Amino acid sequence: MTHDSGSTPSRLPVTTRFAPSPTGRLHLGHAYSALRAHDFARARGGRFLLRIEDIDRTRSRAEHAETIFADLQWLGLTWNGPVVFQSRRLGLYAAALDRFKALDLVYPCFCTRTEIAAASASAPHAPEPVYPGTCRGIDARGRMAAPHCWRIDMAAAAAAAGPLTWHDETAGEVACDALRQGDVVLARKDAATSYHLAATVDDAAQGVTDVVRGVDLFAATHVHRLLQALLGLPAPRYHHHPLLTDANGERLAKRHGSPALATMRKGGEDGRALADRLRTGIGIDAVTP
Ligand code: GLU
Repeated sequence: MTHDSGSTPSRLPVTTRFAPSPTGRLHLGHAYSALRAHDFARARGGRFLLRIEDIDRTRSRAEHAETIFADLQWLGLTWNGPVVFQSRRLGLYAAALDRFKALDLVYPCFCTRTEIAAASASAPHAPEPVYPGTCRGIDARGRMAAPHCWRIDMAAAAAAAGPLTWHDETAGEVACDALRQGDVVLARKDAATSYHLAATVDDAAQGVTDVVRGVDLFAATHVHRLLQALLGLPAPRYHHHPLLTDANGERLAKRHGSPALATMRKGGEDGRALADRLRTGIGIDAVTP
């Protein structure tokens, strides 16, 4: 099992990506994140990739993906190579899941959302309930026809991987602590993968050297680092940027009524000028960690 701290393949050209989920329209927070990733790569003569994370078949819409392309072009952003759609790469993720099954580090989970919420009620302040481990260790034989997801046995996985670190531009060398995330889902009930597994597999498959994304995904990086180690994948460098907030400190991405980029674009606003304002922070309420 690998115990390295994730040496970055420095011979690769700097490669970043923007990886939106086409489940709705992009807002200023997305624009800011896309710009950060784009500019990071361009400033270093590197590549900027676009990946559509459309594994949620019930919520993803092709028209949202089309709108994303138009929004990014309007902001003056260009990307390298063809757009990658995760929905077309399910075989890759299934193979990665098989690897975890072979290592005996995942288990089927039959719990419903309601059951998990009820069982996690003791931790009401957790942003997402940490799975309490109900299905870990149950005998699932004879039940596999019932809807189930696959969860990683985080304690066993962390023990198998040994101590790991990852590098964040701001935080420096971070000790990997995936345990706090609980037994996260690696394959959903309705899809052969999950965000964590697909993003990890794709960042490596696409040669991403630098993951530039919002600090709201900082905790997810602990999980991704562990999955990389167990799959024998290289660890990119991470750049978790602050999130855009309004004057009241509320996140623009979440704020009710925050205008969609498409609305501004169709209203005749100059996208490149908006991109420049986001770059300099002028005319934007606040950027806070
Ligand atoms: N699809 C994720 C999102 O829209 C992107 C996560 C990532 O950049 O790793 O939040």
